[in-house]
Amino acid sequence: MLKVLPEQISNLIAAGEVVQRPASVVKELMENAVDAGATRIQVIVNDAGRTLIQVLDNGCGMSREEAQLSFQRHATSKISTAEDLHHILTYGFRGEALASVAACAEVTMITRREGDETAAELQVSESRVNSVREVSAPKGTNIAVRNLFYNVPARRKFLKSDNTEMRQIVMEFTKVAITRREVEFKLIHNSKVLFNLAAVANLKQRIVQIEGMAAAKDLVDVNVKTSVVSIWGYAGNPLLAKKSQQNQYLFVNGRYFRSALFNKAILKAYDKLLPEGLLPSYYLFFEVNPEETDVNIHPAKTEVKFENESVIFNILNCAVKEAIGVGAFMPGINFEQEGVPELPAIDANLMKHRASLRPPQVDYNPLFNPFDEEKSFHSESKSYLADFGAPGVAHAERVSPVERVAPVESLLPVESIAPVEESPNIVIGGRYIVTALKSGLAVINVARARERIMYERYLKSMEQSVPAVQESLFPQTLDLTASAFRLLTENDAVVRRIGFDLRPFGDNCIVIYGIPALFADEKMDMAAVVDDIIDELGNSGELGGENEGEEALAERLFSEFKERLAARMSGRIGALPQGCLHSFDTRMIVESLFACENPYVTPSGKSCVQMITVEELEKRFNF
Ligand code: ADP
Ligand code: MG
Repeated sequence: MLKVLPEQISNLIAAGEVVQRPASVVKELMENAVDAGATRIQVIVNDAGRTLIQVLDNGCGMSREEAQLSFQRHATSKISTAEDLHHILTYGFRGEALASVAACAEVTMITRREGDETAAELQVSESRVNSVREVSAPKGTNIAVRNLFYNVPARRKFLKSDNTEMRQIVMEFTKVAITRREVEFKLIHNSKVLFNLAAVANLKQRIVQIEGMAAAKDLVDVNVKTSVVSIWGYAGNPLLAKKSQQNQYLFVNGRYFRSALFNKAILKAYDKLLPEGLLPSYYLFFEVNPEETDVNIHPAKTEVKFENESVIFNILNCAVKEAIGVGAFMPGINFEQEGVPELPAIDANLMKHRASLRPPQVDYNPLFNPFDEEKSFHSESKSYLADFGAPGVAHAERVSPVERVAPVESLLPVESIAPVEESPNIVIGGRYIVTALKSGLAVINVARARERIMYERYLKSMEQSVPAVQESLFPQTLDLTASAFRLLTENDAVVRRIGFDLRPFGDNCIVIYGIPALFADEKMDMAAVVDDIIDELGNSGELGGENEGEEALAERLFSEFKERLAARMSGRIGALPQGCLHSFDTRMIVESLFACENPYVTPSGKSCVQMITVEELEKRFNF
């Protein structure tokens, strides 16, 4: 028999889409409070939201009539024409949330507009407004949702442990709090204050409030502006990643969204920089023309369709690489000095799009040291403990990345900035080479540059054939453990392929007859290098697969082994003796570094080169 469902049942079905768990209610109510222009929002939860979810705000409030209407489906004050759908600046616009909540919980709402003398109090359940009366209350809205899913046993049973539901609530709370830094937020669970966030001036301060000081130190600036999209925010420093559970947030025009595609673009930027199993944190804000997105495709509005998805993918990937130091320079910087080659382009895909795009304008600061932030954010960590409603605790101004630059003197002693005639390179502190660029200057960390250069040369020497071996005049003898000895002798062929001539010499003893010629002049602890080889052989699985079909695998394992070993060996080459950097050496280092495939970081991800653009110099002199 075909019949129209009673309204209560169809409301319940609709509620199922919007209200899946207590956290969905927290999200919808907090978003309504933000949409109402509140500057202070308090969320009170009991029993992980099962018995009570209450949100109090000091926003615009509603008249008695509006309040009654607000519980009807498709009642919204936020859009009125189809055209408006393209310019949504509020969180809500569907007019479904309150109706859905009212279908599956007992709701009390008290609300008052600024100019009204009294507030309206409404009791609502089973999609019906049961009573309305006048009460006195402060301006704003106070909405309490009790006994969620009391009439939907299936949903109630489906709820997870209090811990899990609470974690979801905190996540929704965090998303809104991160988006609206200018709003004060408080979250209380079973009378315990979990978060008390004073309004702050910038994202980093909000992250500190939520995650603590340590988290902020782990973040590097991401900042890119193109005609298609602007992306700004923070990404985790790969060197400091330690937890496998990380905070990953994407926002578009102030709205949280999820995107497997963009997540991939970010992970790709971290390629090989993160130890296995670790994921990067990120808090990234996308600004796009609202007409080029569609937030309407998902009921909880967490999926967003972008018109220029693949272009944004590439811009995002580059911007993150840039931020974490994979590309210390964006393409487009011209080197004027002869003999200094063009820097390699970071991403061929982006280059393809450059014809149709303005190149990304990267507003990053190569001297910015995320470790120096402690002082400037000290005051905010206190506000975390401040009482809700207490007078604002010191709100630092939003500091732009450029303003945060360390004074240039700290890097370049004034007396060493001398005019350069013959050679474009100056050595300072015995450890840095300053080289002039058309668009500024680059400061090269010599030790790290050499590490990168040796790494790439060694790998190259193993590409086609075996590297040249330098036989030693005084072969060194090494005593090994039985298992180390066995590993080396079993992998004899591998050892030869990487340019070493190691020969067994009695019980568990070997002699180092030859090493790769490339390293012959370096002062290296060869016993430590042999330990590295043994270690990496142990980590590598079956390198010498001889059966058919195993070859490809063995080749892949060997190639990974080579890379890891090359990274460890180049890390052992040690510094050049003080004062021995002659102009010939410095030129070689500069040229070799910029001839590298990746001149920007050492194999372990430490920055090799910093640069100061003319633009930045101008900003610094503009005080
Ligand atoms: P939507 O947010 O999609 O418009 P909701 O069901 O969440 O739909 O809310 C319905 C309407 O109720 C809103 O459009 C708004 O006018 C009003 N409203 C809801 N919550 C508040 C609040 N906290 N303060 C003021 N008005 C509110
Ligand atoms: Mg809403």
